[in-house]
Amino acid sequence: MKIICIGRNYRNHAKELGNTIPKEPLFFLKPDTAIQPKGHPFFIPAFSDNIHYEVELVVKIDKAGKHIEEKFAHKYYSQIGLGIDFTARDIQEECKAKGLPWEKAKGFDGSAQISKIFIDKFNLDLNNISFSLEKNGEIVQKGNSANMIFHFDTIISYLSKFYSLKVGDLIYTGTPEGVGKVLPGDTLKGFIDDKEILKVVVK
Ligand code: MG
Repeated sequence: MKIICIGRNYRNHAKELGNTIPKEPLFFLKPDTAIQPKGHPFFIPAFSDNIHYEVELVVKIDKAGKHIEEKFAHKYYSQIGLGIDFTARDIQEECKAKGLPWEKAKGFDGSAQISKIFIDKFNLDLNNISFSLEKNGEIVQKGNSANMIFHFDTIISYLSKFYSLKVGDLIYTGTPEGVGKVLPGDTLKGFIDDKEILKVVVK
């Protein structure tokens, strides 16, 4: 399986990091080793002093396809979950300044947190999914799929021009504003509507 992440998919997040609004989806990959074994704490890696949380809606692909037309993209997924795209912001800034790829800042072990529960899309209004992230009991990020620049079907169609999508692939669809640093001892909880579906303890 592969993990494909969309960057800058919410205007206010692009702005908070001083980035322009993309005209087509911006994406990067994480290796499968970025997935945290279930229930394990997340250990802040020694190479960074500034690991940021980014909560994101995650689409799980459940049908293989390539060159998928946008109007058929809905047939390729049936569940939506939540993830945290942990990012070594200090390293990402270095990479961006040098025009280098971001993988070092984005693909390390544990950088792809994933909810234990995925929700059937027929139980959601895909154009109005509200989600949030709590850090130590306080809401730090709030998002809604209505504010995505590129919606699920557009993303799937676009990505499938470049990659064959396979069953089990995960697509992280971008983070809303409010990203910030984690420290040892933090607890992060992710919610779709008011349902807690993700929990990460930081060490
Ligand atoms: Mg992200």
